[in-house]
Amino acid sequence: EGSRMEGSSRQSESSREDGCDGGVQAEDGGGDGEDGEEVFPEIRLNLPTPNKVKVKNAEYLKSCVTVSDCPPPRFPEFAVIGRSNVGKSSLINMLTGRKELALVSKEPGKTRCINHFLINDSWYLVDLPGYGFAKVGLQGRQQFDSFTREYFTRRPNLAMVLLLVDASVPPQRIDLQYANWLTDNEVPFALVFTKADKRRKGLNAAVRDSHVTAFKRQLLQDLAFLPPSLLTSSAKGLGRGELLNFIAALRVAYERSGRLEAIRQGMLR
Ligand code: GDP
Repeated sequence: EGSRMEGSSRQSESSREDGCDGGVQAEDGGGDGEDGEEVFPEIRLNLPTPNKVKVKNAEYLKSCVTVSDCPPPRFPEFAVIGRSNVGKSSLINMLTGRKELALVSKEPGKTRCINHFLINDSWYLVDLPGYGFAKVGLQGRQQFDSFTREYFTRRPNLAMVLLLVDASVPPQRIDLQYANWLTDNEVPFALVFTKADKRRKGLNAAVRDSHVTAFKRQLLQDLAFLPPSLLTSSAKGLGRGELLNFIAALRVAYERSGRLEAIRQGMLR
């Protein structure tokens, strides 16, 4: 078990206990899958499987710039982050089925805020400022907005960060840096690839897939295991059910065990 984790600069040695609901398990892929696709070592969350999750209510709560201003941490929270133009607003629209929601975050004065939405009166969806646009001089992963950083490390009910990555372009350094920063700071996150439908001139599905594959491969140069990942297209409604189910499962795990980061640390040390 421990040997799987060898060579990792970031993950602690594994001493996980199997069978713990809501825990994190790492599976070593290292080969080809049944359908010939490349398989990567990926952290697997041992989660319940809800189905037919519906968004019945979605309301905008507030915009803030400090963690202490955020709504009371009564519900599990899921934060969406990514480069500007990655498709964050479109994903929030798709997920909630409410066009006006993500528009709120684009109002003047709110683009640099932590925007909270309450879904089904039971969980928070949080829209964080996009990064990487007009952000010259970002030299390393230690240097992004201090309040976003404060939010990631201090928000007690943060169940999972959804790091959006554009599947229609080759791996971007800043996204890889972001993933590394989240890992270094033990913030639980999943990769949500966006724009899976997108075809540029001369590009086809194979190229799109290769962007996803290339991103994962590059990330594995730094991490021992990949976080969970999902492929979505807001234009085509792809991945909506899967993402809602994923969030629902994480909510159950959160209710049982609290912030998933705690579980991960407990499982891997
Ligand atoms: P944000 O800046 O991250 O909020 O990104 P937006 O949601 O505003 O999207 C940025 C651009 O990408 C817009 O022109 C969208 O129409 C486009 N876009 C977003 N999601 C998709 C998608 O799933 N497929 C395609 N083809 N385009 C998308």
